[in-house]
Amino acid sequence: MTPICLVGIGKIAVDQHVPAINASDDWTLAATVSRAGTVEGVPAFTDFDQMLSETDIPVISLCLPPVPRYAYAAKAIAAGRHVMLEKPPGATLAEVQALADMAQAAGVTLYTTWHSRMARGVAPAKAWLADKQITGAHISWKEDVRRWHPGQQWVFEPGGMGVFDPGSNALSIITAILPMPIHLQKADLMFPSNCDTPIAAQLQWTENVTGDFDWRQEGPQSWDITVKTKAGTLTLHDGGARLLIDEAEVAAGEDREYPALYDRMAELVKTGASEVDVSPMIHVADALTLGKRVTVEAFHF
Ligand code: NAP
Repeated sequence: MTPICLVGIGKIAVDQHVPAINASDDWTLAATVSRAGTVEGVPAFTDFDQMLSETDIPVISLCLPPVPRYAYAAKAIAAGRHVMLEKPPGATLAEVQALADMAQAAGVTLYTTWHSRMARGVAPAKAWLADKQITGAHISWKEDVRRWHPGQQWVFEPGGMGVFDPGSNALSIITAILPMPIHLQKADLMFPSNCDTPIAAQLQWTENVTGDFDWRQEGPQSWDITVKTKAGTLTLHDGGARLLIDEAEVAAGEDREYPALYDRMAELVKTGASEVDVSPMIHVADALTLGKRVTVEAFHF
């Protein structure tokens, strides 16, 4: 098993990364780096430079928010380590490109993970849509930020991307399954009067594709994508976990998103390859470039 170091022991590291690594035959969790978080029984560092100088752990998985993540990734690559990035892969597109160039020059693997692409319905949805004529699509991504990001102020700070933090999951799916490219034509972005990032957004792309993203959804949560084609309607529910074609269930079952990311990282390291895809982030950047800013009620956790 290959030793791996997990950096940023917060919500997603504890909820998903640690269980996925522990259940894998490819990886052993050899160290953590976090100022406050630890994992029982695993050597814990509070300083990243110290971990790099005192260990030769070959693979680093970065679970920090996007803004601080770049500096860690650049140091890890400079130290000859393979790097796995949580989504979205950076605070800017240019910094992700810089990391890709550094990784290539250093001969190490860089993997920009998009966990929602590993949801059970996504690959069969892509396969079914491949030869279809698309007439339109709609994303409905509505969740309660207080429930899923309790107290995480960084999501409303510059670079936190606001509702596009979970919204990039939908964008990672739509960019994977549609057989044709789309580009943004209109966006309305709702910024709470005390926040630097949007809490909701309505987006409209070419090819009759629309998206409704909202972090103020109390009650039932929705992570749904519907694609209309001349041959029928495809729907992904539950963030891609359930696939229906014309209301008939095609794929559903156990969530293996994070285990699948770690399987893929093992494959990339073994073959000496990288996988860097910023296409979901391009739509976020476009929305923030093109979008009309609407000020809404202040938000407090
Ligand atoms: P989080 O719990 O707020 O942060 C993760 C850890 O990163 C924190 O515990 C903190 O550890 C460290 N950290 C935070 N700010 C830092 C800074 N400025 N400098 C250095 N370290 C810092 O966030 P999260 O929810 O796990 O999200 C992290 C990433 O995972 C995000 O990109 C998010 O989009 C992605 N993600 C989150 C979820 C979810 O449900 N929350 C789901 C999928 C993906 P220390 O203070 O101990 O150093």
